[in-house]
Amino acid sequence: MSQPADSASAPVSGPDSAPLPPVLAAARLAPLYQEALRRHCTLHDRLHETDPAAFVALAPHIQVVAAQGETRVSAELMAQLPALKLISVMGVGYDGVDVAEALRRGVMVTHTPDVLNDEVADTAIGLMLCAARQLPAADRFVRAGEWLKGPMPLQRKMTGARLGIVGMGRIGKAIAQRALAFRMSIAYHARSAKPELPWDYEASVVALAARSDFLVVITPGGAGTRHLINAEVLQALGPKGVLVNVARGSVVDEAALVSALQEGALGGAALDVFADEPRVPEALLGMPHVVLTPHIGSATHETRQAMCDLAVNNVAAQLAGRPVLTPVPECR
Ligand code: NAP
Repeated sequence: MSQPADSASAPVSGPDSAPLPPVLAAARLAPLYQEALRRHCTLHDRLHETDPAAFVALAPHIQVVAAQGETRVSAELMAQLPALKLISVMGVGYDGVDVAEALRRGVMVTHTPDVLNDEVADTAIGLMLCAARQLPAADRFVRAGEWLKGPMPLQRKMTGARLGIVGMGRIGKAIAQRALAFRMSIAYHARSAKPELPWDYEASVVALAARSDFLVVITPGGAGTRHLINAEVLQALGPKGVLVNVARGSVVDEAALVSALQEGALGGAALDVFADEPRVPEALLGMPHVVLTPHIGSATHETRQAMCDLAVNNVAAQLAGRPVLTPVPECR
């Protein structure tokens, strides 16, 4: 449901009658982010979509676009914003932003790395435990009165199992640190080996899957990782293997995943992200050995506040003419 858009055609005045600079929200932003931004600017909520005429009048004044993890900020939108200086993403992933075009136009892109590492890593471990021990199914079992008829079937052990991590960046490392407490053996795949880490590197995702009981995916989304987890990888993970995706839906070939699960070629899956969110493939909804969560990797009050603070501090820095705090790697 759309929220009403601001329809001002020029910057609005602040309480001291100094004009607050206009900022365009390129998508519906979290209320937390909207409120915090409004302390620094006049926020125009998706004005380009809701009031094109007002947008045309305001566009030459807009220096900042505010976005979230997967918000699309296209070359077409940038072309309409001749004064654009910054795209501030509240989220570490920024696969919706056309960064090549931003670079070409001299537009800075910022994101919110590190402050969500713990939360997303906790989510990944939680999903692994849910998949191994079938905790959501156990909850359903009790509620449905099934326990009165007999015990729930035995499940599998996670402690001591073999963990493969696809993507050994900030969050991948935080997942590995937690997995050590479960005495898991760890191996990983990334674009390059990390000689400073004590774990085995596999140059091929298929080879990593073949030696893993649990395969956790935590790479960025976008063209570079599209369908990195394909039918061959799922086949290698095998009928006892479990896929955990906390990265982006685009990284997994969802059709191949559904087929592998239906055929028993893959043991199970725990998925926080999907190709066409919030729509989830119908076939997955009916599978008891699949755990589904609605993209909640970083979704706690504490972590979303920290992400919001960092995203807004980037905007405030830009508006005050100071260097931004956390540019994406391409803009450093
Ligand atoms: P990061 O520090 O940049 O780490 C990304 C890792 O992915 C790096 O190890 C990188 O390899 C690897 N990688 C990138 N492209 C690859 C490719 N084509 N093939 C194989 N590996 C590749 O990022 P991060 O902070 O850990 O965040 C990772 C991602 O998690 C985000 O971009 C976002 O999509 C996702 N995320 C999801 C949620 C959620 O709610 N579920 C929340 C936060 C983040 P190198 O080290 O060799 O460069």
